[in-house]
Amino acid sequence: MSTQKETLGFQTEVKQLLHLMIHSLYSNKEIFLRELVSNASDAADKLRFEAIAAPDLLGDDPELRIRISADAEARTLTISDNGIGMSREEVIENIGTIAKSGTRAFLDSLSGDARKDANLIGQFGVGFYSGFIVADKITLTTRRAGAAEAVRWESQGEGEYTLEAVDKAGRGTEIVLHLKEGEDEFLGDWRLRQIVHTYSDHISVPIEMKAAAKEDGEEPAFEAVNQASALWTRAKSDISDEQYREFYKHVAHDFSDPLAWTHARVEGRQEYTELLYLPSRAPFDLYERERKQGVKLYVRRVFIMEDTEKLMPHYLRFVRGVIDSSDLPLNVSREILQQSRDIDAIRAGCVKKVLALLEDLAANDAEKYTTFWNTFGQVLKEGVGEDFANKDRIAALLRFASSTVESDAATVSLADYVGRMKEGQEKIYYITAETLSAARNSPHLEIFKKKGVEVLLLTDRVDEWVTASLTEFDGKALVSVAKGALDLGSLEDDADKKAQEAAEEASRPLVKRIRDALGDKVAEVRATARLTDSPACLVVGENDMSTHLERMLKSVGQSVDAVKPTLEINPGHLLVKRLADEQDENRATALAQVLFDQALLAEGGKLDDPATFVKRINALMLELSV
Ligand code: ADP
Ligand code: MG
Repeated sequence: MSTQKETLGFQTEVKQLLHLMIHSLYSNKEIFLRELVSNASDAADKLRFEAIAAPDLLGDDPELRIRISADAEARTLTISDNGIGMSREEVIENIGTIAKSGTRAFLDSLSGDARKDANLIGQFGVGFYSGFIVADKITLTTRRAGAAEAVRWESQGEGEYTLEAVDKAGRGTEIVLHLKEGEDEFLGDWRLRQIVHTYSDHISVPIEMKAAAKEDGEEPAFEAVNQASALWTRAKSDISDEQYREFYKHVAHDFSDPLAWTHARVEGRQEYTELLYLPSRAPFDLYERERKQGVKLYVRRVFIMEDTEKLMPHYLRFVRGVIDSSDLPLNVSREILQQSRDIDAIRAGCVKKVLALLEDLAANDAEKYTTFWNTFGQVLKEGVGEDFANKDRIAALLRFASSTVESDAATVSLADYVGRMKEGQEKIYYITAETLSAARNSPHLEIFKKKGVEVLLLTDRVDEWVTASLTEFDGKALVSVAKGALDLGSLEDDADKKAQEAAEEASRPLVKRIRDALGDKVAEVRATARLTDSPACLVVGENDMSTHLERMLKSVGQSVDAVKPTLEINPGHLLVKRLADEQDENRATALAQVLFDQALLAEGGKLDDPATFVKRINALMLELSV
């Protein structure tokens, strides 16, 4: 066997990450053991899975286990497993590089504040490198199941690592941590057991340590120090919150506590156990197409795969955890999953569990629900258009900012809104805009403010998608205040209606004048009762794309047919009166153009010809001052 040693360099990112981790996680240093045990457990899962198709991989060593042993003299701590192991290429890929996309962006986002950075780095995944918090050298020796050759990786966690081919007796991975000065606590048997108990008790593979030395000098045997049964198979009453939390960190590769979880054994057409978690923080790749993590599928306690598509719908892609089926065949493949009715049933059941969990939080733990909403609300919103069967339940979970609530936080549910609708109000009103202040100050809201009618303020990109799919809630239509003619239904009394008709009648010549001045810029010009303070505003047809959506689509390079807006004017406004009385045709045309441009600006639009607008305004101002 060749013993040639090769020296390779880490990616620059790895170096930086290592440095950062060591400094920011030092106050929590014992988590390195959790990470290494977690990896060993994953390796056991992977081997068990591969052994379904190739039982020979288990050879004469079928009992999977993890071992932890300390050598006080050598000052080393060794974590070994007889799991899947790694080939040379896998070592380079998994340990020598960080293939995670976004590393650079992540590093750039760091603040230098150790506490904040510790949180961020946790989000990125701590993993194998956390060993360097306590070790100044790590030697990893590994042999992949079924392979004859083993490889040794060694590094001091600085710029480089070495690789060499070696002999290794059994399959799997052995990691030797050469402890730093002052880290002797991790040589102590009691301390190690305590750490395993705290962080890794839920691991389903036995974690073995040597029993106390025997009097007769005989070498002590290994004994399991964890419960070694899959956490989700235990009775809820036997699992502490702490254990639930630690299990989450293991399955989700997350550093922070989960927000909430649902754990149930489901019987019926499909029998399965689900233990699903809501994270408290968004993963860095929440909006990336190539996401790595999802929910883990087990079949009768054997890990099958982690899936990002089939087990949870896209709008619940932040959910983590395990689903363990009692009925699916062990050899279920991704292809089978794609069209399995059984999986569809399991998924539908799990979606209901997650929605029930959210409903429970919303009803009973406002603070947690707010955290959830701020973190994942925009993703959940996608569900309104994506999951027809659960649309109403999802709609009830949505939260909005509102014209009658001072705070900008999205706290108003559709049920809250309906509960305080004015007498005679039949519809749920909303406005979409780029920003909350644009929404709040929009001319479209004036009449609603005057009448004390609440309007929901929608400013997320996904809101256009939400309102396209969600046309009613609780039997009440959702209508945009910027689309179609103002229809206040029974909110309008007879006097209002009469006044409106009279205004329309009186404005006829004026409307024609503006119409002629604006030409084909507008679909229509009409007098409105919608405005109290502003002279004019733009609306689009009831079934037209909103101007906000049009701008959004254009901004991402989509070609869209521009919707011609309708200009609505406020006949009571002084400027409009002035226009009506204007004798000079040129000045009347200029005023009409200014009204239109202002209305466009007021709702966040862009002028085609801003310079001419400025010129017109200046000319009008000069006339005023003489
Ligand atoms: P993560 O566990 O989140 O993938 P880690 O840094 O903990 O990140 O591990 C990186 C990768 O190294 C793992 O995904 C796995 O492929 C490999 N690895 C680490 N430890 C082991 C082990 N004991 N046995 C086999 N593979 C391992
Ligand atoms: Mg890991």
